[in-house]
Amino acid sequence: MTDPHQLVVLNPATEEVVATVPAASAEDVAEAVTRAGRAQTAWAALAPADRARLLRRFADTVDAHLDELARLEVREAGHTLGNARWEAGNARDLLLYAAGGAERLLGRQIPAPGGWDVTFHEPLGVVGVIAPWNFPMPIAAWGAFPALAAGNTVVLKPAETTPLTALRLAELALEAGLPEHVLQVLPGHGAVAGRALVDHPDVAKIVFTGSTRTGREVMERCARLVKPVTLELGGKSPNVVFADADLKTALDPSSFLDNAGQDCCARTRILVQETVFEQARELLADALAAVVVGDPADEKTQMGPLISRAQLDRVRSHVPADAPALRGTAPDGPGFWFAPTVLTGERPDSPAAREEIFGPVAVLLPFTDEQDAVRLANDTPYGLSGSVWTRDLGRALRVSQAVRAGNLSVNSHSSVRYWTPFGGFKQSGLGRELGPDALTAFTETKNVFISTEGPAL
Ligand code: NDP
Repeated sequence: MTDPHQLVVLNPATEEVVATVPAASAEDVAEAVTRAGRAQTAWAALAPADRARLLRRFADTVDAHLDELARLEVREAGHTLGNARWEAGNARDLLLYAAGGAERLLGRQIPAPGGWDVTFHEPLGVVGVIAPWNFPMPIAAWGAFPALAAGNTVVLKPAETTPLTALRLAELALEAGLPEHVLQVLPGHGAVAGRALVDHPDVAKIVFTGSTRTGREVMERCARLVKPVTLELGGKSPNVVFADADLKTALDPSSFLDNAGQDCCARTRILVQETVFEQARELLADALAAVVVGDPADEKTQMGPLISRAQLDRVRSHVPADAPALRGTAPDGPGFWFAPTVLTGERPDSPAAREEIFGPVAVLLPFTDEQDAVRLANDTPYGLSGSVWTRDLGRALRVSQAVRAGNLSVNSHSSVRYWTPFGGFKQSGLGRELGPDALTAFTETKNVFISTEGPAL
């Protein structure tokens, strides 16, 4: 049974206890919000260059602890060491990018008869960030760092299974010289600490990443307070492979196996033109058999475990043992292992082809022509990511315009870059993170009109 007062962090590869952490109560959240509110006034009053300097120092401190952070992520989340190093580097790079933004948060001057009209971007105040367990470090960073750069303070609730890297980041922020209570991390249960943060009237905005179901609840609760919310939710992204594509690269299984498939951008619907369908099936069968699944701390490992027993049960419920499929191998346990799987007997409207499984599982489906490919790619309630593989430039452009998703890649599987906007269409979410507008999402625009015709100033 879940202990309301503490969180037990397990290593998902071994099921050993890594740490126990006190769970924040609603009162703890309220106190943190009060402290964050007090700290915000002074933080926002810093000259942008000084705020930027502190954030750059924070980035240097993260850089000096990159390997430590990566290894902590391996232990608490079961990520492969290579992926975890990328994640720690992503947090550092975003800090540097956001620091530059602090100095370039510019308003506008708008022509106005009878006076001057100027706009300002003012910080919101205290921002609440609710992070998930699938990418604990980067997703915490995407919510928190641009908010800090724009002059807000942050109260961050990590997922209960993965609080350790976020706690370490908060320690490193203090070490780097960020003032106390500018970045506070409160591990806790979603139903208690998460809800308390969402419901707190002094939290000016919520940034939430997680399931569409919980995201909907968060949005409903925010609506009662007319509180802005950014939602980054589920995905069921298409990988559209035309016959003229470089099939081996297009069908690289890391596109849906990275992070054991617990990735909202995973290309879990593999749509292949029917003329090369058999070839694709053979390539995928060979590729799955070659995937090295095991100890995530081993440099050679390509895929680690799932995060928890609950997630393993959830994935199993979508994939009956006798379902027609191509399969790789995985250790038996201890640990939460599931073998890489491509389901081959699904219909486009079957639950496995439409619902987010969040495990190392994709479905393989044929299409006839460009129109059919677009129809299938859009046949989902989600719209986060996707890839289009073809050597025909016109077709690449047409398809990437027609697919309703926030992050598309042509002849690439990449979705996330800290310098480009990230977010979903449809039930994949609301708002954008990262990219050039990341800071303004954490501000209110104020317009000031100064009359040149009234009494002398
Ligand atoms: P949730 O959406 O429930 O959890 C995400 C975060 O929200 C966690 O920090 C969680 O805390 C918190 N939370 C939970 N309930 C509330 C609430 N009522 N109010 C405020 N915060 C809350 O996802 P799950 O962990 O249950 O995962 C379920 C499924 O969600 C996955 O199988 C996957 O399909 C999807 N998912 C998608 C993600 C994405 O990147 N878009 C990320 C994670 C999951 P706590 O950890 O205590 O539950």
